[in-house]
Order: sequence, then structure tokens, then C-alpha cells
Amino acid sequence: GEALAVSARVAPLGSRLVLLLVEDLTEARRIEAVRRDFVANVSHELKTPTGALSLLSEAVMDASDDPEAVTRFAGRMQIEATRLTNLVQELIDLSRVQNDDPLEDAEPVRVDELVAEAIDRSRHTASTKQITMAAGGTADLYVWGNRGQLAAALGNLVENAVNYSPARTRVGIAGRRIAAPGGGGTSQAFGPGGLIEIAVTDQGIGISEKDRERIFERFYRVDPARSRATGGTGLGLAIVKHVAASHGGEVTVWSSEGQGSTFTLRLPEAGAVRDRASAGRDPV
Ligand code: ADP
Repeated sequence: GEALAVSARVAPLGSRLVLLLVEDLTEARRIEAVRRDFVANVSHELKTPTGALSLLSEAVMDASDDPEAVTRFAGRMQIEATRLTNLVQELIDLSRVQNDDPLEDAEPVRVDELVAEAIDRSRHTASTKQITMAAGGTADLYVWGNRGQLAAALGNLVENAVNYSPARTRVGIAGRRIAAPGGGGTSQAFGPGGLIEIAVTDQGIGISEKDRERIFERFYRVDPARSRATGGTGLGLAIVKHVAASHGGEVTVWSSEGQGSTFTLRLPEAGAVRDRASAGRDPV
């Protein structure tokens, strides 16, 4: 009687184990496929500028008696070389945010400094397009995290806002502190404590609902030609998403096609995280 009862209990456990194993294998296969796709994408992205450079250098040699053509080809070589440099730099950034634990050298980071840095990075492009950038609400806000990674994330959002907007529009950056959803709330991303929200709003081309689901994937671009024209690599938002997640935060997008987009970064507040960490260490 007892053996029967035991086997009756073990049998469903066994089938559940098999199911878990199958799910594990499927997950392993999915990860392998993602990895293979990534390598294929990187190879393709590297081939485009290196192929162009090789053709252009041949063209330069053939045009040695035509100084005007040489100058023209050299200019295009410079563009391709810059593209290659950008791609390699973004790949290094991506691998860094994927492999380094950002909280190992985390510190309270001033939001107004992050914003000033991000604006600085896009100042040149913005001024050639007569785009005004304005920030507000960022005073006295502190987020908890890796300064370099947070700066890269916000910098990418502002850069995109400028790149995907027409001339004479406005890019706004707004900071605010919000109470965390916390216990019983709907968001899984946060524990108790305050949250800092940094929203980057543009009056640009916008993003369709279908594309909004995919833009955070590595190398996904709505319009590859447009992205390339602005020096884009298709890796920026993948970096932003990774940085947000590894900091215990999130990035979300709201957009209306033809009207503009808002990308919102939500990150744990410095004070709240510190309080929580020290509360956890206190003997009960
Ligand atoms: P890229 O280097 O191409 O800008 P990202 O990963 O930063 O790569 O963005 C992926 C794609 O998402 C872009 O190619 C663009 O199509 C779209 N995108 C990103 N930000 C915006 C924005 N603010 N407005 C409209 N489209 C955007």
C-alpha cells in the first residue's frame, strides 16, 4: 500500500522533472540561437564598413591622377572608418554592461550631472539641427549606481531623441522623484523605497507599436538607412535596457507616430537603496 502511495507521488514528480528538463533544453537552444544571431549580426555589421573601405582604397589608387576624386574618396573613407570605430566602441560598451556588475562600484549619482553630461554629448548635433534641449526637475535627485553606465544610458536616450527628430524641434528632459509601487504594487521591478524617473521627450518621427516591441533588441532598427546616416549602430537601446535592468530599474517607451516619443528611465533612489541596505544589515 505504502509503495503504491509513494510511486503515485513520485510519478507526477518524475513527469514534472522531465518537463523541466525539456524546458531547460529549449531555453538552452534559444540562448544558443540568440548567440549565433548576434555573432552573425556583428560579422555583417563589420563587413559593411570594412568592405567599403577596401573598395574605396582601390578607387583612390585608380584615381591617383585625379586629385578631386581622391579627396572625395578619402572623405568617404573617413566616414566608413568613423562608423567602424563607433561600432567597435558600442560593442565594447555593450559587453561591459553585460559582464560587469554595476553595483560593485555603485555610488549616489547626481541626476543633474548625468543630464548635463548627456546634453553636452548631443550639443553639436542638436545645434546643427537647431534643436533646443531643456532640462527640469533634476535638482537634488540622486540615483544609486555606476556613474559611467548611467551616463552612457541617458546619453544614448538623448542622442536618439536628437537624431530621430526634425530640425527646429525641442527635446525635453524631466526628472522627478516618485514613491515606489512597493508592497502589493503592480510593478515587479522595484522593492520598497523611492524611485527616480528621468523622462526624455522628443517631437520626432515616433515609433509604431509593432516596432516599440523590438527596438530594445541588439541591432534592431526601424529604418537601417536612417540609423546609419546618423552614425547609429542599433546597439544603443540594448545598452540602455541592460543598464536599467542591472540597476534594478527599467526603461519604457511611449510614442505617437509622427508626433514624438518619450523614453522613461526609472531607477532606485540613492537614499532609499542605502537605507534598505543598512536596514538589512541591522541585527534583529
Ligand atoms: P541606433 O544606433 O540605430 O539609434 P538604438 O538601439 O539606439 O540604435 O535604437 C534602435 C532604433 O529605435 C533606431 O534605429 C530607431 O529606429 C528607433 N529609435 C530609437 N530612439 C528613437 C526616438 N527617440 N524616436 C524615434 N525612433 C527611435
